[in-house]
Amino acid sequence: MEQVMKRDRGSNNSEGLAPRPEFGKLSIRNAGKTYDPQGSAVVAVHDCSIEIEAGDFVAIVGPSGCGKSTLMNVLAGFDNVTSGEVYLDDSLLASPRQAPSPGADRVVVFQNGALFPWKTVLENVTYGLLKTNAMSRASAEEKAKDFLSRCGGLDKVMRSYPAQLSSGMQRRVEIVRALVNEPRILLLDEPFRAMDTISKTTMHQHLLKMYSTCRRTIVFITHDLEEAIYLSDKVIVMTTRPGTVKLELTVPLPRPRTPEMTASVEYMDLKKEAIESVHEEAKKAFERGERELA
Ligand code: ADP
Repeated sequence: MEQVMKRDRGSNNSEGLAPRPEFGKLSIRNAGKTYDPQGSAVVAVHDCSIEIEAGDFVAIVGPSGCGKSTLMNVLAGFDNVTSGEVYLDDSLLASPRQAPSPGADRVVVFQNGALFPWKTVLENVTYGLLKTNAMSRASAEEKAKDFLSRCGGLDKVMRSYPAQLSSGMQRRVEIVRALVNEPRILLLDEPFRAMDTISKTTMHQHLLKMYSTCRRTIVFITHDLEEAIYLSDKVIVMTTRPGTVKLELTVPLPRPRTPEMTASVEYMDLKKEAIESVHEEAKKAFERGERELA
């Protein structure tokens, strides 16, 4: 196994952050994924190990084709590893002998919205709670309203339909819909990719607020190094294909995070190190004739 570079510049101060949840510890151990093993045998991920504590916010970055979506699909239970294991709270989630399945304990929010257009915001947010018969309609609505109001005053639009909301607001409702089910892990797959810089900055503040009030383990996949550093406790830089961990950066910025922190020396140092690391991998991929970092 290659040596993973680990940069820990000290622990962060987390004022205003909800306590660490009891569940949501993730352990990816020497995971590998080969597509079409009997045919073209594309080794997408190789010997990849990642440890995430319950309640941590971790970003995974790397050039296109480094296996980010492959890892996400395994965590979500849509696909399996071909070597190694994945454990969630010390229970085996995936191994070549045990295919994972999707579960309410792991919720994914993708870059393309997935709200039910024919349901109101409140109906969308209560959907999962009612589908599993977890609670009565009255209790589900009360819980949904509480989460909506704690996540940036979204209770004000609870009677609206998705089409009546901005795309940013739709995305926030989607994240609340995931959080209300109190998953062990929230998987965010480039949720803000299609947004302009100003909308993205606003969304970051909303996501940070949601994270600090309804803390869950978050695995955030992104191409955007700046957003990875700004949001996360730990940034994992992947190598080009076959994807494995190249560098782990601990982000020492205190919470609550504020946009001014992006001008701090700590932030700049991390950004420089992450950029160099990702660009080195993107260059390798480019030289091999693959798509370069988007
Ligand atoms: P990323 O999300 O980082 O862009 P992916 O996980 O989508 O990377 O893909 C990793 C590698 O695996 C890429 O080279 C991709 O072409 C390949 N790959 C992804 N899915 C399949 C598949 N179903 N069959 C064959 N190769 C695949």
